[in-house]
Amino acid sequence: MNRTDMWRRIESHRKAWDMIVVGGGATGVGVAIDAAARGYEVLLLEQSDFGKGTSSRSTKLAHGGVRYLEQGSIGLVMEALKERGLLLQNAPHLVHDLAFVVPNYDWWEAPFYGLGLKLYQLLAGKYGFGVSRILSKGETLEHLPTLKTEGLRGGAVYYDGQFDDARLLIHMVATAFEQGATLLNYCEVTGLTKDAQGFVDGVTARDEETGHEFSAAAKVVINATGAFTDLLRLKAEPSSEPMIVPSQGIHLVFESSFLQGESAIMVPHTSDGRVLFAIPWHGHTLVGTTDTPVAAATLEPVAMEQEIEFILGTAGQYLTKAPTRDDVLSVFAGIRPLVRATNVTNTAALSRDHVIHIDRCGLVTICGGKWTTYRRMAEDCVDQAATLAQLPEKPCVTQHLHIHGFYDAAKESASEEFGSLAVYGSDAYEIRKLIESDARLGEPLDAALPYVKGEVIWAVRHEMGRTVEDILARRTRALFLNARAALAMAPAVAGLMASELGWDEVTRTKQLAAFRDVASNYVLHS
Ligand SMILES: Cc1cc2nc3c(=O)[nH]c(=O)nc-3n(C[C@H](O)[C@H](O)[C@H](O)COP(=O)(O)OP(=O)(O)OC[C@H]3O[C@@H](n4cnc5c(N)ncnc54)[C@H](O)[C@@H]3O)c2cc1C
Repeated sequence: MNRTDMWRRIESHRKAWDMIVVGGGATGVGVAIDAAARGYEVLLLEQSDFGKGTSSRSTKLAHGGVRYLEQGSIGLVMEALKERGLLLQNAPHLVHDLAFVVPNYDWWEAPFYGLGLKLYQLLAGKYGFGVSRILSKGETLEHLPTLKTEGLRGGAVYYDGQFDDARLLIHMVATAFEQGATLLNYCEVTGLTKDAQGFVDGVTARDEETGHEFSAAAKVVINATGAFTDLLRLKAEPSSEPMIVPSQGIHLVFESSFLQGESAIMVPHTSDGRVLFAIPWHGHTLVGTTDTPVAAATLEPVAMEQEIEFILGTAGQYLTKAPTRDDVLSVFAGIRPLVRATNVTNTAALSRDHVIHIDRCGLVTICGGKWTTYRRMAEDCVDQAATLAQLPEKPCVTQHLHIHGFYDAAKESASEEFGSLAVYGSDAYEIRKLIESDARLGEPLDAALPYVKGEVIWAVRHEMGRTVEDILARRTRALFLNARAALAMAPAVAGLMASELGWDEVTRTKQLAAFRDVASNYVLHS
């Protein structure tokens, strides 16, 4: 999978594509997989890197959403629980189950949450992840040794899924490619073309690497641009009413010592009425999130001071060692593409259900939803888009389609055999071969994180990694785990990429400067 081959496919494609998908996040790539697996000809264009938007900035939970039960959204929860189960089945190298403990400090909490979490377990049916139950104080502390004990009565445990969002996305891009889709990163859709009747019949686009502008025809164009949804709709119909309410959520990352053990904490009601998670992730502790309405979407959103203080303060109420600003290894923000509703003023109360909207000009928009439900969203979207484009009817086949990297032994032995390379699934064998062919490629990039030089070469050759940021933020997760360590790795990464991609000194310097600029948003100063 590389950009040169993708360009070759585009140039040799003389007729209209069955579908052009705009946006390379979970939603768009999910649509590309679904459509290509049905046998449609698909082109996907992403203006930046795959996953640069919200899809690399989530809480990394494959979940039904316990809190939506409280909102009475039983259908939404059941659908997401089923998708959680399918994700585990199709990508066992990337998704695993995790115990979540709700600590109880009041007498009524154990029966209240115990009952709710039992229902959550039952709604999963045959896709269940584990048995929910009420815990004694001692059992709660066995799960969470660093939980504050003052006033603690016990807890309730339930099970959900956890994954690495950007890594799953890259494997989804590979899956779409294997199914026949053509996918290009760093290619912005600048406009939509229309036929004589005013129906959308293609896109105009610009290759951000070369500046080359081109147009591509399609029987239907799908807008999967997440928080940017309304910008593309305005390009199609300047009078279109906005559909999206952008809402920002941030996470802080700390050393693993803050949350020892292998379970996560789920705080069901923070002072602002939201849910807060503290989760073990890649040997670190991930804490989040917030729900702050923002005026507009940006590709590199920045955490606000009050969001940082809120998470530090809330985490400090539960953890024996209250984290401070100095303990923050990375801070990252993402923007939820929530669907606008009338009579709702609080973004936390907006539905997480997805919406498929067809504008009068025939542009199909898919928005809302969750990472967990991307497959189902794609199925619904391709069904409707195929009808609109009058494509031959073909059934969806993704329920049992393995995600790239799948291998049978993934669940049982991968982490023992491959250590931190286990997230690559079956590609881990190839990466190990690469490292064995040149011992220098086994050298670590920084002592604080497990990444080795061979992963940079792999990402450039096989995963369309184009910039230093692509490697450090989304092919590895260095920037999200420890921003200062990522900055320290950057020169070595730029050096390896320069020899692979033939960069001159000016390009290498520019790449490093661009990465330092982005990374400065992930470093928290005291
Ligand atoms: C803080 C936070 C935590 C979350 N946690 C979870 C969780 O734990 N579990 C869960 O299931 N869900 C979670 N979600 C929700 C989930 O992350 C999102 O629903 C999902 O990632 C949205 O994916 P998307 O593809 O629609 O958007 P995006 O990932 O933003 O992708 C849209 C893409 O479109 C591209 N684009 C825009 N305009 C153009 C153009 N003109 N041309 C080409 N490309 C363009 C953008 O660059 C972007 O990459 C969370 C969301 C947030 C914000």
